[in-house]
Amino acid sequence: MNALLQDGLARNYVAGSWQEGDGGGVIAVEDPGLEEHMADSAQAGEESLAQALEAARTSFDRGDLADMKPAARGRLMGRIAQEIRALADEGAELLCRESGKSLSAAHDEFSEAAEYFEYYGGVADKIEGKSIPLGPDYADYTVFEPYGVSAQIVPWNFPVSIAARSLAPSMAAGNSTVIKAPELDPIALAMLGQALERAEVPAGTVSILNGMGGDLGARLVASSEVDQIVFTGSVPTGQAILHAAADTVTPALMELGGKSAAVVFEDANLDAVISSLQSGIFYNAGQVCSAMARVLVHRSIYEDAVARAAEMANGLSVAHGLENPEHTPVVSALQLSRVEALTSTAQQDGARVAAGGARIDRKGYFMAPTILADVNPASRVAQEEIFGPVTCFTPFDTEAEAIAMANGTDFGLVAGIFTRDLARSHRVARKLRAGQVFVNEWFAGGISTPFGGVGKSGFGREKGLEALYNYVRTKNIAISLKV
Ligand code: NAD
Repeated sequence: MNALLQDGLARNYVAGSWQEGDGGGVIAVEDPGLEEHMADSAQAGEESLAQALEAARTSFDRGDLADMKPAARGRLMGRIAQEIRALADEGAELLCRESGKSLSAAHDEFSEAAEYFEYYGGVADKIEGKSIPLGPDYADYTVFEPYGVSAQIVPWNFPVSIAARSLAPSMAAGNSTVIKAPELDPIALAMLGQALERAEVPAGTVSILNGMGGDLGARLVASSEVDQIVFTGSVPTGQAILHAAADTVTPALMELGGKSAAVVFEDANLDAVISSLQSGIFYNAGQVCSAMARVLVHRSIYEDAVARAAEMANGLSVAHGLENPEHTPVVSALQLSRVEALTSTAQQDGARVAAGGARIDRKGYFMAPTILADVNPASRVAQEEIFGPVTCFTPFDTEAEAIAMANGTDFGLVAGIFTRDLARSHRVARKLRAGQVFVNEWFAGGISTPFGGVGKSGFGREKGLEALYNYVRTKNIAISLKV
């Protein structure tokens, strides 16, 4: 058992030390594959929050990161990456048990977290301003400054890699950061705190707090001590946070939900479609914001595509995450009921259940891998985010119809195109309302490719060099040379 959990309690990492917090209790953490309590997290309250914010401000004012030589800041981040890799085996097991995901997916999350620190560590000394010509009497240049204190709210579907995705550019830019861990699976994220501690990140530069979203999270984002908010989560929570941010006029980055569509043309390679579908909607039991939640298929190959998708879904191995199956439970009993309830509306709305359709009768919160066919694009299952292993097939006849359907929700996170026609892939990619378009491979890209939403999927970009500029603001310095 990890040192963090010697007594079954994950603590708060506040101002460089591990604390039980003043939240007056613990939050139970359950293993969704066993429906069993596995540990608790110590709840941070008002005092811990104030301490974390004060430490963040003090560290920032002292210039712990911002005044560090940029190359040294990059090396510090490299050390964090090493420590994350060193903790990955232990951390992956904890993450697998608290989230339900497979052990290999949990391991991938730690690797990805390390990669974020390597990537953004590498650019810490390349955040360059520009000089602006004003004629011989002036020197004018811009600098990128860190905001100060960045408040970051992390969701439960990829707690470690999403936390790293925002923390790494925040640190590279020189900010201090206060993270609110997701209440359902906060333990592996505490391991990230352990990596920061072992890498000797200056105390107070980063704090990680445990608490409920509506309580601790809401207080954090409403604080006047916060200079920037980064939120990854659902649309309603994002909207609540934007209201709070309006009161303090705090810039906020919003990475919200999705209902992303793949458009499969008649010349698509169906093997590539089915393999993309498996990862696109069944990886992490479909609890992925950029999941392949809708599949729009040209009518000429539609029935074949539905049959092959159903065969793949029915053939997935199902087990507790520690056994590394292809299909794992969703995160909680509540999530399972939500997924099942929304899925059950499909049939009333005229859809055909080609595979799955309900929970699996076994221990653990398993929803059957589900393929819904003939889904009406206006129906609830086609419009609302299910956030589970359920996808919706709908046929189309023309390119224009497919584009209109793909763009026909409030969301716009990612989209996909499957075709061998190069001209069509470029043409359609330009028309799709999404922050990222995959051609012939769902999830193509990686930590260096910008990611973010359009419409209710949010705004701002994470990943890649582009994300860095969400964590800095521009200052222009104009100097008269006439004196
Ligand atoms: P959620 O909105 O319920 O919770 C996200 C986080 O916000 C949690 O840490 C929660 O404690 C906190 N929170 C809740 N209420 C809050 C409040 N009033 N103030 C401040 N914080 C609050 O979302 P979730 O169920 O954890 O995650 C699933 C959602 O996240 C899905 O909609 C999914 O699409 C989205 N998501 C988006 C991305 C992305 O990058 N676009 C990535 C992962 C998940």
